[in-house]
Amino acid sequence: MLFSITAAFRTVTDISPEILSQLGIRGLILDIDNTLADHNDPLPAEGVIEWIEMMKECGIRMVIVSNNFALRVKLFADLVGIDYVRESKKPFQKGYRLAAMRLGLPKRALAAVGDQVFTDVLGANLFKIKMLYTLPIGRGNKTLLKIRKAIEAPFIPKRIYGSDPSKPLEHRQLNAITYKEN
Ligand SMILES: [Mg+2]
Repeated sequence: MLFSITAAFRTVTDISPEILSQLGIRGLILDIDNTLADHNDPLPAEGVIEWIEMMKECGIRMVIVSNNFALRVKLFADLVGIDYVRESKKPFQKGYRLAAMRLGLPKRALAAVGDQVFTDVLGANLFKIKMLYTLPIGRGNKTLLKIRKAIEAPFIPKRIYGSDPSKPLEHRQLNAITYKEN
């Protein structure tokens, strides 16, 4: 399976330490654009700084792996205080290998977090780690995003955590999601 998604979330901030613990995930390989921030926005999206701090306090190790250019990635990673791999050429494996080495965790304890099927999802599956998909933030180019959504739609799971903001995220929801052990 090249396009397996372990669990899908409305936004990265819907990923909770409880869900990670249930999946045995102790390290995250994070995408930036449309995952932690709007495309090329120097600032993280709402709640992301607090989410990162909370994850750090819970002992979750994180590294940013982005295909964006060096300065964009460095400035963002420094701002949020996370180590990074820039110009990673996802879905190719080199960036993931570097990230896994820096995290110092076995593959079974790792998950990639990202919004793009043909980079983040495919890359995680080629590297044989879990994949936590987040819907793209995308306040950027609406036409491009529309095209992307149409192409990616068949790969996206129907159940998305946090898609109904009135419902709290509960662990038991996890059982309803297609969860594939890597
Ligand atoms: Mg992205």
